Amino acid sequence: MAMEQRQYGAQPEVWEPLAPEEAWGLKRKFGETAIYVSGGTLLRTQWENETRPLPDHMISLADIAEMKGIVVTDGFASIGAVETLNDCRGSDVLRSRCPLLAKAIGYIAAPAVRHLATLGGNIGSLIGDAVPALLALDAQLLLYQDHARRRMSLRQWLEGAGGARQPDDLLLRVLIPIHEQDGGDVADGGFAFYEKVGRRESFTPSLATVAGTGHVDDSGLLFDVRLTAGGGTAIPHRLTEAEAALNGTALSEGTLSIVHEIIKRQYAAAGGLFAGSDYRKEASANLITAQFWKLLKK
Ligand SMILES: Cc1cc2nc3c(=O)[nH]c(=O)nc-3n(C[C@H](O)[C@H](O)[C@H](O)COP(=O)(O)OP(=O)(O)OC[C@H]3O[C@@H](n4cnc5c(N)ncnc54)[C@H](O)[C@@H]3O)c2cc1C
Repeated sequence: MAMEQRQYGAQPEVWEPLAPEEAWGLKRKFGETAIYVSGGTLLRTQWENETRPLPDHMISLADIAEMKGIVVTDGFASIGAVETLNDCRGSDVLRSRCPLLAKAIGYIAAPAVRHLATLGGNIGSLIGDAVPALLALDAQLLLYQDHARRRMSLRQWLEGAGGARQPDDLLLRVLIPIHEQDGGDVADGGFAFYEKVGRRESFTPSLATVAGTGHVDDSGLLFDVRLTAGGGTAIPHRLTEAEAALNGTALSEGTLSIVHEIIKRQYAAAGGLFAGSDYRKEASANLITAQFWKLLKK
């Protein structure tokens, strides 16, 4: 059957559901002709640049109460997906309990964009600069997926293996484990870092974004190291081989040079107009090993 053609200049129909079931049902019903809209900052750029067509149906997420608020519950900081990046960054809960995420958000766009842009939209884009920090923090997602609320790790969702990520998924909340002992996103004695390199110093898309968390025990051995890299059009991912090379070892210059090579080999960096894949791999490996170098020299 021939697809019905959209009239030139026709306005999309805007839907304002009040519940996740309703929003998900609309997306399922209209399929590729509908899109979830949160802050709309990324979508608007894509529509203006004509890298994505205007949809027939816009499903606004702004009125869904379940997707709002930032609270601490059951050992997690729970952040509603429609919370704006400015509200996340200014939140007392996130500043004190998730400083790594608050830091990462400070590197995203300019304050005026962050006033509208949401955390859910940053994750929904798959390539947002908050994602490497959230992966390093082992964040989980509460999703509305396939007629039900489901909880899964951000990592599993991004990797998407076995249908873990589906086109209609509605991201409801982001859950970050917090450590009651010291109240932060990294347990006492741990380390955490986030670095972004762009073409200019600020308000610029990322060429390379890295994040990491981990611990050093009393005998100087590393454990629970989590490393991530992203930037450009690459979906951020964990650098598991580099993690394995570091966990259980004492830092040394020799280990760092091995880890540098492993990152360059494992990281599937994006190519692009302004920086090739090799440049991004090298930059990511440099950014991460520089952090461990600082730790070694402490
Ligand atoms: C000038 C400018 C500079 C920017 N700089 C940066 C930057 O430095 N770093 C960066 O990471 N981004 C940057 N962005 C992109 C964008 O602003 C952010 O990624 C922002 O967090 C997107 O959030 P949003 O609410 O506006 O998403 P939207 O534009 O509303 O949506 C983005 C995508 O996520 C999907 N989506 C939204 N919410 C959900 C949800 N709850 N569940 C499922 N899917 C969802 C949408 O369908 C869409 O595909 C910039 C944008 C502009 C205009």
